[in-house]
Amino acid sequence: MIHIADASLFIIRKRLEGSIVTVPSVVEELRDENSRTTMELMNVRVEPPLPSFKTKVRTKAGITRDSEELSGTDIDILAKALEYSEREDTVLVTDDFAVQNTALRLGIRVMPAGQRKIKDVLIWEKQCIGCKRRFPQGDECPVCGSQMKKRRKSVGKNSL
Ligand SMILES: [Zn+2]
Repeated sequence: MIHIADASLFIIRKRLEGSIVTVPSVVEELRDENSRTTMELMNVRVEPPLPSFKTKVRTKAGITRDSEELSGTDIDILAKALEYSEREDTVLVTDDFAVQNTALRLGIRVMPAGQRKIKDVLIWEKQCIGCKRRFPQGDECPVCGSQMKKRRKSVGKNSL
């Protein structure tokens, strides 16, 4: 069994049997020292995603332009999971709802890293591209009038 893991696994520190693989962009996302140490202790293999599988993910998931829901890291991890799932028993470990959804559409098996339901972990918010203030909703910043973009706001590990 191969586990393809995004940052959730190393933040939550769930123990898994079998091999664990991740991508370089996930490692870059782990700013916190504890999660980096956890990753090292888990003997994780870090492999870059193959461009051909990134294209496959975008095509099959119907992502024609930059997705609001999926980041570059999300595409990378999905590409790695798709690559492995074509030749081995593979499960993608993620607490990200958008990634889970896309994985299922691609025929990739998924497993959450945390115990909580995904909707409790993932929260959306809007951030102003001008003054960078954050608001729960809206398209235009009520402070400076600039455009606001949708962002993912993760609940900190202390509350998990
Ligand atoms: Zn603003």
